[in-house]
Amino acid sequence: MKNAKEIMSLALKIFETGDVCDSCLGRQFTRVIRAADNSERGRKIRTMIGKDGRALPADHKDASCPLCENTIAGIRTTASDIVKKIKPAGFSTFMIGVRMSDSLVMKEEALWGKIGIKYCEPLKTEIARELGKLIVHKTGKKQDTEHPNIIITFDVQKMSAEIFYNPLFIYGEYKKLVRGLPQTSSRQFKDSVEDIIARPLMKVTKSREHVLHAQGREDRDARCLAWRPFIVELKQPLMRKLPLKKMESAINKSAKVRVARLRLSTRKKVAELKAQNPFKVYRVVVDFETPVEKPERLKGIVGAIKQRTPNRILGAKPDKTKHKKVKNIKWKRINTKRYQFDITAESGLYLQELITGDGGRTKPSISQLLENQAHMKEFDLIGIKKG
Ligand SMILES: [Zn+2]
Repeated sequence: MKNAKEIMSLALKIFETGDVCDSCLGRQFTRVIRAADNSERGRKIRTMIGKDGRALPADHKDASCPLCENTIAGIRTTASDIVKKIKPAGFSTFMIGVRMSDSLVMKEEALWGKIGIKYCEPLKTEIARELGKLIVHKTGKKQDTEHPNIIITFDVQKMSAEIFYNPLFIYGEYKKLVRGLPQTSSRQFKDSVEDIIARPLMKVTKSREHVLHAQGREDRDARCLAWRPFIVELKQPLMRKLPLKKMESAINKSAKVRVARLRLSTRKKVAELKAQNPFKVYRVVVDFETPVEKPERLKGIVGAIKQRTPNRILGAKPDKTKHKKVKNIKWKRINTKRYQFDITAESGLYLQELITGDGGRTKPSISQLLENQAHMKEFDLIGIKKG
């Protein structure tokens, strides 16, 4: 063994502080002595010292270790307790976190003050590694420090662990077939697109909460007849295996919402989904105050639209001006005072104000172009196109 003299003299200094356990002894020499673990490393050092004829305990008989306070000796029990707590269906990968107790950190640092830190490994690292090994062995699951299904945080002082189940993300596309249904859950309305989609998923995954991340949103009173992409986030799922095809049919039993193309997704994809800025095609039925003349003037709506924050939400939102593009308009006369429009526009355009003009706050507008006050009767989203 290299540096045998130095190791022995350091070990003697360690024993001056008390009879530490094999792991604690070995841990101070992790980087210089090869062994399967710190405990084996500690035994090697004791043997070495014994052979050298020094009067030291050949093994650690005293039940209490002054350095780790028997945290390492109790680690098998700790691992068993943790395994009993985790729902096995809730994960296939995990990560260990360790919250150290202040008193143990102080003792460790005091020892390092005496012997230096040249060869050592911190106690926290050993606890995390040994717990990880034992949990892999007991459960057959894998460790993953980048995208673990669950995070196990072991609190050394409390000698207990908390389990955090990372959320599940499920991508899909939906259509909303009825009016009067809000997109997201709220206390005000008893049902929503989000609730209808999440209900069967929550049941199967035993999750605690859900959040709908959709690409844009439709008005409560508008239908969405185009497939709108979304990702539903299920928080604290105790089950991660999802029969997605079955889930699709369960959701589609609702007469109000239809989903397709469900698949597992990630948090990163949520940001990508939100960053996309597709064009939307709206079908709008509009009533005019007087019979419409020269409808070809409607072509003037194509181009950039200047919109100040609508009167109806002013106060809730600051007064700002935004510019959104209208790409195309098609019209169909229903009668002299009622028209149907298919309008292709950039996401985020205030559609109602494009029709009414909002007292001049939106320019140009349908009302302004036809010099005839227009009112939106109803509208649907009928298409979502990549910008
Ligand atoms: Zn110890």
